[in-house]
Amino acid sequence: MTRTYETGAPDGARAAPDPAPWRLRPARQQPVWPDPVLAAGVLDELSRQPALVAPDQCDSLADRLASVARGEAFLLQGGDCAERFDGNTTRSVRAKLRVLLQMAVVLTYAASVPVVKVGRIAGQYGKPRSRDEETRGSVTLPAYRGDAVNGLAFTTRDRTPDPRRLRRMYDASAATLAEISEFALDGAVDVQQVHEWNRDFVLTSPAGRRYEPMAGEIDRALRFMRAYGVAPDASLSPELFASHEGLLLDYETALTRADPASGRRYAGSGHMLWIGERTRDVDGAHVAYFSSIANPVGVKLGPSTTPDEALALIDRLDPDRRPGRLTFIVRMGARVVRDRLPDLVEKVTASGAQVIWTCDPMHGNTFEAPNGHKTRRFDDILDEVTGFFEVHKALGTHAGGIHVELTGDDVTECVGGGTELEFDDLPRSYESACDPRLNRSQSLDLAFRVAEMITRTARRQELKTSR
Ligand code: PEP
Ligand code: MN
Repeated sequence: MTRTYETGAPDGARAAPDPAPWRLRPARQQPVWPDPVLAAGVLDELSRQPALVAPDQCDSLADRLASVARGEAFLLQGGDCAERFDGNTTRSVRAKLRVLLQMAVVLTYAASVPVVKVGRIAGQYGKPRSRDEETRGSVTLPAYRGDAVNGLAFTTRDRTPDPRRLRRMYDASAATLAEISEFALDGAVDVQQVHEWNRDFVLTSPAGRRYEPMAGEIDRALRFMRAYGVAPDASLSPELFASHEGLLLDYETALTRADPASGRRYAGSGHMLWIGERTRDVDGAHVAYFSSIANPVGVKLGPSTTPDEALALIDRLDPDRRPGRLTFIVRMGARVVRDRLPDLVEKVTASGAQVIWTCDPMHGNTFEAPNGHKTRRFDDILDEVTGFFEVHKALGTHAGGIHVELTGDDVTECVGGGTELEFDDLPRSYESACDPRLNRSQSLDLAFRVAEMITRTARRQELKTSR
């Protein structure tokens, strides 16, 4: 759905400065609210609520990301494809945080790289869709666009967009952010404890056995730190930042605030926002909105992205070339990443820009299983990450991170990996409202593999420099 906003002043009148210039541009994937007056009321109310995140937290994330851009750290970004209002219970948020921390421990200690942790969490409620409508039998209804817009159940009532859901998105995001802070304050981020969870995976899952030597290395690193009196969590900071796709521009605009200290405008809905593959047109409304905020931002780059598009996005979104400001989240698919990515990386690097390159190995590898479930193969996911690392190794650039859809629960949505799920297992516990996520053991399996890739790359570089 594309909507262009008319904000012209009447003839002869002087146009007031438009607080949201993106409104002059075509905005794809925006909901059409049946009751625009109700929508305006909700947005007005939201614009008077406190921002959910503070500018200095967004700046801290930008600092951490700058070290990723310089090749000194790794970005781990992950969480649900679509959060649900009733899905973020304390238990499930904690399970998600735990799995992210477990992955971070593997990467920090097995690959010896500082990890910046960013959840797809506390705001991931709006979904872009390839089709506006969904048909089942003889019934056609609006497609599900995330809990922020309509309900998942296939009824007219649920599927009708309801702007009051934007308020629920704000409240649900605030509640999840509170859960995240409590989790950190609880001391739940004791590295030794997290490592014990990982040992459990190594000892009890078929895939885990392969990683026994790495788990042993982590043991040694932790023992060494204790012996030298280094606090066990010294290099695993409990810091976890929140990110989501900044899809719903009315919502984002209502929560955008000017920072009195710097005068810069920040999205107040999350620390980092990204632009999806379907809304990244350089002259579109999303790029215009994102160019007006100071938060770190990401852009998904699918297989059709040309180097010129990537360079134009850099000009719009990172005109000052600040390392850490812009992350390119590459999601090309395992089959094409080795062919398409090199040209992009080469031309962007040659331009002097210092963006973060991170790999989303999920969205280019989705297909329908014989029983109709949307799924992804663990081996394709691994293959895309491997290809991504190969490309960067060949070009001497930094494979800066991974961006994955995962959950801490034992769902059966992706096949292979971890506990070796098959197509027949999918119906057992398929809970995603949208795309299939890695479950806990698949996520850990991936983390160990990525740690191996990072270690191999580092050894190669050491060899090169010692020659
Ligand atoms: C997503 O991240 O859930 C998504 C829809 O991705 P993309 O924009 O890359 O298709
Ligand atoms: Mn998704």
